[in-house]
Amino acid sequence: MKITLLGTGSPVPSLKRASAGYMVETGDDVVLIDHGPGTFQRMMEAGVSPTNVTHVVFSHLHFDHCLDFIRLFLHRWDISPPNTQKLQVYGPPGLKHFVERLFGKDGAFKLDLTARTNHENSLDIYQKRGGTPPRPWPEAAITEVSESDVIKGTDWQIKLANVPHHQPYLVSYGVRFESGGGIFTYSSDVTVPVEKLPAKPMYDLAKDADLLVHYLNSFDVSREMASQDSENIKQRTVQQTIGELARDCNVKTLVTSHHGPLIDTDGVRERVIADIAAVFKGRLVWGEDLMTFEV
Ligand SMILES: [Zn+2]
Repeated sequence: MKITLLGTGSPVPSLKRASAGYMVETGDDVVLIDHGPGTFQRMMEAGVSPTNVTHVVFSHLHFDHCLDFIRLFLHRWDISPPNTQKLQVYGPPGLKHFVERLFGKDGAFKLDLTARTNHENSLDIYQKRGGTPPRPWPEAAITEVSESDVIKGTDWQIKLANVPHHQPYLVSYGVRFESGGGIFTYSSDVTVPVEKLPAKPMYDLAKDADLLVHYLNSFDVSREMASQDSENIKQRTVQQTIGELARDCNVKTLVTSHHGPLIDTDGVRERVIADIAAVFKGRLVWGEDLMTFEV
């Protein structure tokens, strides 16, 4: 499978980084994992059309992980030939409500969709694409998943685990994507606990992963203190903790992502990389938009 980082940024708007989003191409399937603001443009830059997308999986429903779903859904429907497979969309509880309030018959796009399914100009374009009126209202196959569910495609599967992030208001899943013997793990947003031990669910998700993309939005500057007493977990840094997770799970390549503007500055970036590299000896990559990885 081929993994493309569509967005390595945070909720802070940036011209350099789109917000969170990843694309997995495997067999005939194109699976988007999160689709935050800016990632639709990145997907186009990567040469993938919305009509190529078969599945979307949301780790959680923070806007920086789902805002460009609006673009994806509407563009894909509008330019698809008739009888195109429904988009398969998976995510945590709340997903059905989210989609219905956007694209349902009484949703936010009611006026637009009513016009596009009724006005003669739109119907004319629809017929030129091979459609026969009446033009159907857009639909997707929406599935709310729990932690124990396995999402299956033709030659791939996704396992989930609840990760600590904004509970009890949101359900947030880390993702383990398995295809053709390769393993891609995505932490989603994971709040590293106060004691700075890696979140336990991440151990199951990241075990023997070829590629681990891990959230790294914040950092600690207490590296000198930490290096003097590395056994004292209270003095570990957030970034060390992520390195320890990758080391302990036998990860081959660790990619950091979800970089906010503070961590993404000259000097800080290098310091954080050095902290991780002090404990993790595998391949370490500072994630940038449109990087690709073959697994
Ligand atoms: Zn989040």
